[in-house]
Amino acid sequence: MLYIHPEECIDCEACVAECPVEAIFHEDNVPADWQNYIEMNAKMAPKSKVITEKQKPLAES
Ligand code: SF4
Repeated sequence: MLYIHPEECIDCEACVAECPVEAIFHEDNVPADWQNYIEMNAKMAPKSKVITEKQKPLAES
């Protein structure tokens, strides 16, 4: 699972359209059933390793 650092994100929403499984939403548009992910993302993003290189999608690994 990947996380987006909420303090580093500039809310450009470029990633929303690029996600192949439509798993990214602007914070204001997160579906009601997934609201708990907002807090989880905020907690986990600062603790997670930063990705600096493009990787193959899991389906192609
Ligand atoms: S591409 Fe996504 S994560 Fe990156 S700044 Fe824009 S909205 Fe934030």
